Amino acid sequence: MQAWVIGNWKQNPATNHDVNTLVDALLKATSKNNAAASEAAITPACQLMVAPSCIHLANVSDRLQGSSLLCAAQDISAHSHSTGAYTGDCSAQQVVDAGASWTLLGHSERRQYHQESNDTLVQKLDNALAQGLGVVLCVGETQVQYDDKQTLEVLGEQLSVIKALLAQSSNQEPEFAQMLAPHLIVAYEPVWAIGTGKVPTVAEVSATHDYIKQTVASFAAPLTNVSVLYGGSVNADNADDFAASPMIDGALVGGAALKADSFLAIAAAF
Ligand code: PGA
Repeated sequence: MQAWVIGNWKQNPATNHDVNTLVDALLKATSKNNAAASEAAITPACQLMVAPSCIHLANVSDRLQGSSLLCAAQDISAHSHSTGAYTGDCSAQQVVDAGASWTLLGHSERRQYHQESNDTLVQKLDNALAQGLGVVLCVGETQVQYDDKQTLEVLGEQLSVIKALLAQSSNQEPEFAQMLAPHLIVAYEPVWAIGTGKVPTVAEVSATHDYIKQTVASFAAPLTNVSVLYGGSVNADNADDFAASPMIDGALVGGAALKADSFLAIAAAF
C-alpha cells in the first residue's frame, strides 16, 4: 500500500517569503534534476503532500507544479454553493481552482476552535467529493477521553460521518463507495499528542488503526483498504518506529513539517 506523508502547515509560515523559502527547500531536495538532491532519500512509494494555509494555497500549488508533491487545503466551506455570501469561507471549487487536489477535514483544531460538528463534516465531505477533492479525515480523542479509555468509542462516533455520507440518498449507489475509496484517507491524531511531544506507543497506534480500518470497511466493502495515517508529534527521530508498523500507512505532520529537513527525514522513514 502506498504510504503518505502530509505536512499540515496550519497558520504558518507568517510571510509569503518564508513560504517560498520552505517550498524552495522541498523542491531542491526532491527534484530529480537537482544534483544536490542525489542524497535525498525519498522513498518512491511515499506520496508527499503539503497543506498550506488558504492564503498561500495558490502560490504553493503553482510552485509545486511538475514536482512530486501534492497540495491540499486545510479546510473547505460547509456551504454547498461554489460562490455566494459566505464571508471568510473558501469553497471546494475555489480550493480546487487554487490547485489543491486534497483537503484536510475535521482536524481537532477545527473541531475545538470552530465547533465543527459531525453534521458539518458530512456536508464538507460531500462538497469536497463533488469537486473531485480527496479528503484526509482527521479523528482523535482528547487526553480525558484517552485516560477514561474511551478512545475507540470516540473514534467510532467521529468515523460515523462516513456512514452518514454513504446513507445520503444521492450517495447510495454502489459506485459512490467505489469512487470514495481512493479519495479517502483517515488520519488518527490523538489531541493530547498534537504539538506536545507526547506520543502513544506504536502498539497502541497499531491497535487503534486496526479498529479504524475495520470500522471503515464495515461501512462499505470498497473502503476495505483505506489508508490510515498517524499524526501527533511525529518527528525525524520517532518516524522510523511508526513506519515499521504495517498498520500505519504514513504520517500527518505539523511542527516538523515546517522545516524541509525534518519533513523529508520523516518521508524517508516511510
Ligand atoms: P504536530 O501536529 O505534528 O505538531 O503534533 C500534527 C497535526 O496537528 O496535524
